[in-house]
Amino acid sequence: MMKKSVILGILLFLFVPLYSFGEQNDEKQRSNDQEQLRVMVIGAHPDDPESAGGIAAKYIRHGAKVQLVSVTNGDKGHQTLSEDALSIRRRQEAMCSGNVIGAEYIVLDNHDGELVPSLENRLEIIRCIRRFNPDIIFTHAPNDYHPDHRYTSILVRDATYMVMVPKVTPEVPPMKSNPVVFYLSEGEKADVVIGIDEVVDKKVEMYHCHKSQMYEWLPWMGDYEDKVPEGEEAKKKWLKEQRSGSWIDAANRFRDVLIEIYGREKAQNIKYAEAFNKAPYGGRYSEDQLYQYFPFLKEETNQ
Ligand SMILES: [Zn+2]
Repeated sequence: MMKKSVILGILLFLFVPLYSFGEQNDEKQRSNDQEQLRVMVIGAHPDDPESAGGIAAKYIRHGAKVQLVSVTNGDKGHQTLSEDALSIRRRQEAMCSGNVIGAEYIVLDNHDGELVPSLENRLEIIRCIRRFNPDIIFTHAPNDYHPDHRYTSILVRDATYMVMVPKVTPEVPPMKSNPVVFYLSEGEKADVVIGIDEVVDKKVEMYHCHKSQMYEWLPWMGDYEDKVPEGEEAKKKWLKEQRSGSWIDAANRFRDVLIEIYGREKAQNIKYAEAFNKAPYGGRYSEDQLYQYFPFLKEETNQ
């Protein structure tokens, strides 16, 4: 009996401090993670992650690390350039856009207009997400009009959870937790709406980098090439008028959500907004985690 309790005592002496040391390390790890939230925006084409450009700019101002990803190289959307020339240009434009806010911008080498939710593409997205190890991901809504957008959304859905399974693509270490996933709102409902007035010009600046789309391809497709003004500043002003309608619409349409988040007085003065919906998969998220995942709101709402 004596021997047993002595052994037990020694074991306790040896393991208790080790155990608490490990716990402290975990705690430290968690607080570090909280200090630098990792945010990923996964879009189908170069210029799609910019849909969350306002919130991305806010995260970076607040000290978070942001990575923007385009799943295709955008090599189809031009009236004259070859696919090779266009994909090179789109990549340069994406880098320019990322630099506007200080975000890393990754352009994967899948062809534009041909994206499918294949196993090969799923594994690529799993590896891509694991490498960045995000806490939160923003991506397209599954009901989006464009097939590349919809399949990007499906690929992200198929990749979450699998990002934690070690035997799937073991060449990139698995994540310890499932990232929280939000969709860019396409419908009548929004779970989180963020005012972007103070970063709206950064968002315009990001789009302004995508010259082959904003001033060449889209005007050609929409038959308004003659409306594109000359000169950088005139172009930016025109682009803001062109683009900001949907940001103003989001603020007006989801004013009730803005009021819930910011309070009536602040919410009524918000002109531009971005709206998001929690995906029904990925990491758990509840309203009481609003400041954890959208930390800049704490200051903005004086909490
Ligand atoms: Zn797109």
